[in-house]
Amino acid sequence: MTVKIAVLKETRPGELRVAMVPSVIDRLMRLGAQVAIQSGAGDAVKLPDAAFKNATCVVDAAQLVRDADIVLAVQPPAAETVRAMKTGALLISFIYANKEPALVDLLRQKKITCFAMERVPRISRAQTMDALSSQATLAGYYAALLGATHLARIFPRMTTAVGSLRPATVLVMGLGVAGLQALATARRLGAIVEGYDVRPETKGEAASLGARFVDTGVNATGEGGYARELTPEEKSKVAKVLTAHIQQADVIITTASVPGRPAPKLIGKAQVDGMKAGAVIVDLAADGGGNCEYTKPGETIQIGQVTIVAPLNVPSLLGEHASELYAKNLLNLLELLIHDGKIAPDWNDEVLAKTALTGAGSAKRVGVAKPAA
Ligand code: NAD
Repeated sequence: MTVKIAVLKETRPGELRVAMVPSVIDRLMRLGAQVAIQSGAGDAVKLPDAAFKNATCVVDAAQLVRDADIVLAVQPPAAETVRAMKTGALLISFIYANKEPALVDLLRQKKITCFAMERVPRISRAQTMDALSSQATLAGYYAALLGATHLARIFPRMTTAVGSLRPATVLVMGLGVAGLQALATARRLGAIVEGYDVRPETKGEAASLGARFVDTGVNATGEGGYARELTPEEKSKVAKVLTAHIQQADVIITTASVPGRPAPKLIGKAQVDGMKAGAVIVDLAADGGGNCEYTKPGETIQIGQVTIVAPLNVPSLLGEHASELYAKNLLNLLELLIHDGKIAPDWNDEVLAKTALTGAGSAKRVGVAKPAA
């Protein structure tokens, strides 16, 4: 028996990643899979069709998916591609069901079992499948570099023949996966680093990376380890403490998000207006609207002497490594699904039951919250 896997070329604007890389295909073949990719799928990450020696290349998406048992992608696929899929096949990609109600309906109509990568539970056993984390790690690293390159100063202390240069101060707001990686990267580059988050457990994590923690006295730990929305009183208490740190930073990297809500505004206009001349804000929450009131998602703007950089889909900017890590996340999930050359999911497995958005397993789930759409 062979499981037929199809890998789509991404079509959304700005999406450079590809869901599969050649080294991972070798491992899929050992699981009993046969892989076909859409022609040009890896072009944007310097993986031409010729690099996929172990896969068949197909030009047309509909033809590619027609007899596939499993379709892999990074972003939600186009509706016409889903329509061309076999009834009852599997789809694995990011979906964000609340933004894609029509697509979710279509998946249900076609009886597609869809594993939405943003639903992988944040538990230790699922870490190797956690694409939110693998992609956020890269984004955090890149944010520190963006901060460094937009600053007209250097990060480390440097002693020269004509005197010493003082190190930069980098404040990272939001210490999830991306924020901690941003802290670690800025510190490796020699900056003095400060971290802030509403979840108090991040204090120890920041300290272990050599950062000072900005303590505001507000605990906003919410469900499942994620942050909750703050009350207006809490917001004003936090703003007071933070203003001093915001206004002495050379670079601020913001990464805060609350699941299912627009990004919280952590830096107000008045706070930016009081920042040091030449300071830089890198707003990693731009996809969700941004953490700074001035942020224009997708743009780099100048407000007085302050530069605000707000790139969209940052993992895509490191597309080669982002694709490699994402492909490995998919492989680890596929290892739970494919046994002896057959698709045989164990729906009692919490990881599969919680990741399934539509299809067989989502109907069988026990004690698992209903999918968002
Ligand atoms: P995220 O992208 O959802 O949010 C980034 C950070 O923003 C979070 O640390 C959050 O607390 C913070 N934040 C939200 N509102 C804020 C505000 N108003 N001010 C300041 N900070 C604010 O985070 P993530 O990286 O996806 O991680 C989410 C959770 O999942 C964390 O608790 C993390 O430790 C956990 N996690 C667990 C595992 C695992 O155990 N396998 C893996 C990855 C993440």
